[in-house]
Parts: sequence; C-alpha cells; structure tokens
Amino acid sequence: MARLGIYGGSFNPPHVGHTLAAREMVEKLALDRLFVIPAASPPHKRLPEGSPSPYERLELTRRAFSTVPRAEVSDIELRREGPSYTVDTIAELKALYPQDEIFLIMGTDMLLSFRTWYCPERIAAGAVLAVMHREEDETLWQKVEAEAEALRRDMGARIVLTNNRCIRISSTSVRRLLALQAPGFLEPEAQRLILTNGWYQCRADLRGLPYDELETMSLSLHDEKRRPHALGVAGTAAELALEYGEDEDVARRAGILHDVTKALGEEEQRHLCAYYGLELTDSERENTKLLHAVTGAAVAERVFGECPEAVLAIRWHTTGRPAMTTLEKILYLADYVEPNRDFPGVERLRTLTRADLDAAVWLGLETTYRYLVATGRSIDPVSREARRYYTAAAAEIDYKERSEDA
Ligand code: FE
Ligand code: FE
Repeated sequence: MARLGIYGGSFNPPHVGHTLAAREMVEKLALDRLFVIPAASPPHKRLPEGSPSPYERLELTRRAFSTVPRAEVSDIELRREGPSYTVDTIAELKALYPQDEIFLIMGTDMLLSFRTWYCPERIAAGAVLAVMHREEDETLWQKVEAEAEALRRDMGARIVLTNNRCIRISSTSVRRLLALQAPGFLEPEAQRLILTNGWYQCRADLRGLPYDELETMSLSLHDEKRRPHALGVAGTAAELALEYGEDEDVARRAGILHDVTKALGEEEQRHLCAYYGLELTDSERENTKLLHAVTGAAVAERVFGECPEAVLAIRWHTTGRPAMTTLEKILYLADYVEPNRDFPGVERLRTLTRADLDAAVWLGLETTYRYLVATGRSIDPVSREARRYYTAAAAEIDYKERSEDA
C-alpha cells in the first residue's frame, strides 16, 4: 500500500511557501507520491491582472515543483468540465489507486471550514486529512485540535496534524512584488518562466502613467479596505496643494502612491529593501510600520518614475522630519486628516491644516507622540527631532484658533 498525497491550490503563482510546505509534507507523512493539483479557475471569477492561462499555470507549477522529491503536477482538475470539487478528485484517484492510502493536505483555515465544503463526509471517507500548522499560534492550534476532534466524532474523519516550518507569504504578495519589478519568493525555474513571459505585469513600464492609470495600478496594490484611504489622501493632498500654491498633480500622485507598499508583509518589505539596496536606520529596522514609507518612496521613484519632490514627501509621510518642504507637510497632513479619518481631535487638526501648515504639522507630531507614549511604543528619532523643530509653531495655535472663532 503506497501513501499518496494531494496538494491542491490556485498556484497563481506557485511560490517558495508552497514548495517548502510540499517538501515538509512529503517527509512528515512519508509519502511515496505527492500529486500537486492546480485548481481550475471558475469561469465567473476574474483572474488577477497578467495571470497566465490555466495550462500555462500548469507548466509554471511543474517548473516550481521540479525539485521537490516525489512531487508530480497533475492536470486532473484542469481537464474536468464544469465546476471542480475535491470530492471528485479523490474519487478519481481512488479509482486509479484502489489499494493506496490518500492524504489530503490542507491548511488550518481549510480544516476549520471543512464542514462547509461540498460533500465533506465523502471526502473524509476517502482520504486522511493532513493539516499543516505552525506551532507558534497557540490559540489557533487549540481551535484546530478541537475541530479535528469534533470531525473525528461526527463523521469518523481520520486527521493528522503536523507542525511545519513555513514561510509567511501569499500569492497575492508575490504578484505585487512582480508588478513592482522586485521578483522574490519564487523557485528559480518558475521565476525564469514568469519573467520570460511577462506574466503578472512584471515587465510593464509604469513610469509616467497618466493619473487615472496610476490610480488603478496603485489601488490594485492596496488591500481593499485601505483603498478609500489612498483615494482620500490623494484628494486632500490635491486640495491643500491648490490652497498652498503647490503643484496639484504632483500632490495627487504622491497621495495615491504614499501607502503603495503598505499591503506587503514584513518579509516582503525586507525583501524590497534588500532588492533595491535601501539603507535603514536602527529605528526603521526595529519598527516594521515605518518600512512602508521607505519602500513606498523607492517604488515611487524607481517603478513609477515620480519626481524627487513627490518621492521625498512619501519618504517622510509617516515620521515627518525637521524643515519639511511644503509638499512634505501637505502629504503628512493629508494622511492625517483625509475624510475617512476619524479620531478624537481630527476636526481641530483639519481646521488648523487649512489655517497654518506648520502649526498643524506640530499638532500632528504631538498627537502621534502622545499616542505612542500612551501605548508604550518607541518613538522614531527623526520624529522626535521634527516635534522639537516645530514647537515654535505650536505657539501660533492658540492665536490662530482664536482668530478662527472670531
Ligand atoms: Fe502610511
Ligand atoms: Fe496613509
């Protein structure tokens, strides 16, 4: 009796997180063969921009897994007409290998939603559920163990839980890095095929895009829930530029791009820094939240070809700095007061932004400073210096606010 593994996924694209998981599972489950099965994409679902066709993705997956022992990539789901279900895949393999034991490899999220799948009892009858897990997350682990126990009881499921090393990376992030012309987290053979074919927009020239195209591109690199913020900052920055005699278009472009790398995780941020050769201060190295300003500025410059003024405004939008340019102040404040922002004191800061940029910058820095102190977080040295630098402007605040009231 051989031990067969099934590892399914979109693999759009397959990355080193997938191949590491496959290697680990082959070893941990002592598999004789591992079937890697790219999922058919449902006809109604729009694929991400620049995705290869299903059979190109199959070839890409073959390249990616070519060095994984015992792995063979199968087109079993791509060949099937109509909707594709795991239960059918298991049935097909069972018919081919009636004597063998099948292990269905899945992540913890899949086990937790297993009851909602199509025909879970039949899947559980046909295969051992092999759940990959990283041991760090205690709470999740307990939930998974409880659900595994319940599934054993309710449907006689056979379940093995394994502790895996794993890489925290998603196909979405890998696609974003490709669009930012900083490929990473790919097996060399797969990366070569992607670059050769220009998939996932990896060869698009994004310099000097007209604003509406820049907006579309930038938003596609954001998580959905952060898109209104990016649009809000672009709009507010443009308004402030008009008011303070700066170039409206430059401000709008800086605004739509200011958080362009924010959706990337820590690993990807560090990858971008290494890839672009960016130098980090100690404070930036320790505080992941600051990295997106550094990488965002680099992307604005190298990928989108934005002007130096916009690049600097993005560079300093999170911490501020002493002696900021008008555009830097505008972006710093637009980020703080754009219409989607809601925190105690936001109205006061909005009013002040329209009255006195320096005083408003001070109030922004002061508000951040107090928040960081109250929540026990570290304060970036440049931010500290900036707050000191703009203290003089704080003296103006009472005066300005009184004259606003009058
Ligand atoms: Fe930001
Ligand atoms: Fe922001």
